[in-house]
Amino acid sequence: MKYSEFFIPTQKEKSSDAKIKSHILMIKSGMIRQETSGIYSWLPLGFRILQKIIKIIEKFHEAAGVNQILMPTIQSADIWKQSDRYETYGKEMLRIIDRHEKELLYGPTNEEMVTVLAKSFIKSYKNLPRYFFHIQSKFRDEIRPRFGVMRAREFLMKDAYSFDLDEKSGEKTYLMFFKLYLKIFKELGIKVIPVRAPAGEIGGNLSHEFHLIVESGESEIYLDESLISCDFKNYSIDDVMALSSYTDEFFKTNEIKLNLKKFKSIELGHIFLFGNKYSKSFNFFVDGEKDKFFPFMGSYGIGVSRIPAAVIESSNKKDGVIWPKNISPFSSIILNLDHKSDSVNKFCEEIYSSLKDDGIDILYDNRNERPGVKFSDAELIGIPLIIIIGKNYLDKQSITLINKYSNLEIDVPKSEAKNEIKRFIDELND
Ligand code: ATP
Ligand code: MG
Repeated sequence: MKYSEFFIPTQKEKSSDAKIKSHILMIKSGMIRQETSGIYSWLPLGFRILQKIIKIIEKFHEAAGVNQILMPTIQSADIWKQSDRYETYGKEMLRIIDRHEKELLYGPTNEEMVTVLAKSFIKSYKNLPRYFFHIQSKFRDEIRPRFGVMRAREFLMKDAYSFDLDEKSGEKTYLMFFKLYLKIFKELGIKVIPVRAPAGEIGGNLSHEFHLIVESGESEIYLDESLISCDFKNYSIDDVMALSSYTDEFFKTNEIKLNLKKFKSIELGHIFLFGNKYSKSFNFFVDGEKDKFFPFMGSYGIGVSRIPAAVIESSNKKDGVIWPKNISPFSSIILNLDHKSDSVNKFCEEIYSSLKDDGIDILYDNRNERPGVKFSDAELIGIPLIIIIGKNYLDKQSITLINKYSNLEIDVPKSEAKNEIKRFIDELND
């Protein structure tokens, strides 16, 4: 992509209601735009990052046999009445009346709808287990939307739903999702800690949240510090249930007596095993080998549009973001620092086209701007590899590569440029 063709409306002024670093930087770097309270558009740069996140989530779910579907945002109130959540969900639910006086709502979550959907197709134990997921906008009329996309009213969530034969196979599925989440967040370049959580609104009795520890977070978790370096790979379902890490609410309501350390954090994922609460409400039973039974269910959420904000909270410098490699909007950026020189322009174009042809996701800053502007925009956007082509090219036929994670800076001769850039990208480790 050429910078001149890529719309990045960076802002000089700080928006007056942006209080935390991620919100400030997302506005400043032209990633998002507020349309009305708690409702945002994603601009090209922000959307590109969001799509990288989505692709990773999709890839891991598909690989685990979780089938992607797309359910609508608007739901009928009837199904929520049937599960008894229409009244109890409260003011966070946006209720809508259509022209025929039918009660609708903008879905805050999809347990009801997916249960009804599954019920219409799944009739026998032979069709179980089944796993579905979708990535869709949710609406929750948060009383105080704040911090930009971190706590929005309309936001993007990945939610998955599982249907199992019984509690035992439900637990196996729960453990599968627990480990899948750790793999997904690792691939996203985000260190998360699983913590035991109360099930709340959804129901059931087994639930965990996945938190990113960061001082500016709104949540609080209690944990045994040794868990921070744990990879949980060999954990059994019993180990998961016995985990010594808790959300604030779980820790307090269950009067946990362990001596644990408290951290500030951001909740990025939440999984629940709630059993047959919804299959029962909707009278969704299937034929078993002997008797009919209600499928055993779980649901598994990831706050997709909260992720970019959370990453910025934990990975920023004074003047910009440093995106983890796998979700960075581009792997690298070429800064043409002498657009008056024909030979610099020619070399920039050549190396840009040739890397692009090889499938490298690269941004070429070809604008007629001062070097200072190009450096500060590259810093603001947060691309991990900066390729400088300018004075050294003219004087010494070399270019400069800067790794923003380690600040390692090297000069490479023009003839080696392409291979060295590729090697640098491969070796980038966030
Ligand atoms: P929170 O405690 O932050 O209000 P929640 O527990 O109500 O979140 P869940 O129902 O567990 O949220 O939703 C799944 C995920 O969606 C959460 O883990 C979080 O990452 C994300 N999420 C929830 N509410 C919002 C919001 N208002 N804006 C952006 N993301 C959200
Ligand atoms: Mg939650």
